[in-house]
Amino acid sequence: MSNEPTARPQENAPINWVNMTVFTLTPLAALIAVPWYGIVHGFSTWAWVSFVVFLYACGMSITAGYHRLWSHQTYQAHPAVRWVLAVFGAMALQNSILVWASQHRRHHLVVDDVEKDPYSARRGFWFSHMGWILRDYPSGQNDFSNARDLERDPIVMFQHRHYLALTLSTNIGFPLALGWLVGDVWGVFLLGGLLRLVVNHHFTWFINSLAHMWGSQPYTDENTARDNPVLAFLTYGEGYHNFHHIFQNDYRNGVKWWQFDPTKWLIVVLSWMGLASNLKRVPDLWIHRAQLAMQFKRTEHALAKRHARFGDEQLERARARVAEEYAAFRKALEEWSKLREQWLADRKQRLLQKWEETSFRLRLKQIEAELRMQRRRLRAISRAYA
Ligand SMILES: [Zn+2]
Ligand SMILES: [Zn+2]
Repeated sequence: MSNEPTARPQENAPINWVNMTVFTLTPLAALIAVPWYGIVHGFSTWAWVSFVVFLYACGMSITAGYHRLWSHQTYQAHPAVRWVLAVFGAMALQNSILVWASQHRRHHLVVDDVEKDPYSARRGFWFSHMGWILRDYPSGQNDFSNARDLERDPIVMFQHRHYLALTLSTNIGFPLALGWLVGDVWGVFLLGGLLRLVVNHHFTWFINSLAHMWGSQPYTDENTARDNPVLAFLTYGEGYHNFHHIFQNDYRNGVKWWQFDPTKWLIVVLSWMGLASNLKRVPDLWIHRAQLAMQFKRTEHALAKRHARFGDEQLERARARVAEEYAAFRKALEEWSKLREQWLADRKQRLLQKWEETSFRLRLKQIEAELRMQRRRLRAISRAYA
């Protein structure tokens, strides 16, 4: 499932005993206490409700907060939202925003590098899933030089300074308070507290492990990140990781409207309520371009392989056809970038008339439609020959 690691610097780093204890004892406790309590006493509906509510509150504080807001700044959020995300993010017990985002930015910068990527999937499932957490950082110290903007954010710094108090009080206090309110303290504590914590840990870690190993690569094959709808379901939408690694500044991971990405939906709903703004989206054309480039690569590769084996005239024609399509693709892209450049320059100087803007948008739509047709034609060629 994974490539053999070639270097193992962090395997020799000293074990982080606090993490080792927490991440061994919590799953062990959940594995024993939850089924035992379920058999002996049974769980109330409220206990299950607390499991789902806290799972989504904590999980999406990591994905919408730690990840898409603080690590990548794909949108801006009202302070009230940032406080909620910071508190439930601490409850997820995945370190402070500052540490998490700094490590995550490094992951994107040097993705798959066996030495520099903090959770490189090239070092195997176990290491990228949780092995990296059980040892100290190789240097022994976190380096926040890539997170100066976050060091200036008072909410981030408050959460970082009071992380231990926050994580303990939320993990113990919230389930106990809710349990007391609904009259099932132990049930809520075990499901909404303990089981939720463990399940959320592994669901989030799947993004670093499985989402770099299992799935498709529709946008790029220059790193190990994959798109996988099954993982998206478990990871609050982050399973569309191939898209995310090529367009990390987009607030969406599941870019198609039908792709399961509750984090994206949450951000959109927040923006409708006036609590989030400046939602960043990459131009649709960039997405088409990435998909088409991958399709060309695959079709050409498959045709060349077949040609080497059966070289015939029909195949030769197919290859010529693909080459033609490729030339048209380059031409469309060129026109698009010229058009865009001109439009941006005009807009900057406020020269643009309404009708010019409309005609620009229409031409853009045309180019997009042309690329979409190209993708269909290529798919047909692939199906016939590859
Ligand atoms: Zn990744
Ligand atoms: Zn990311």
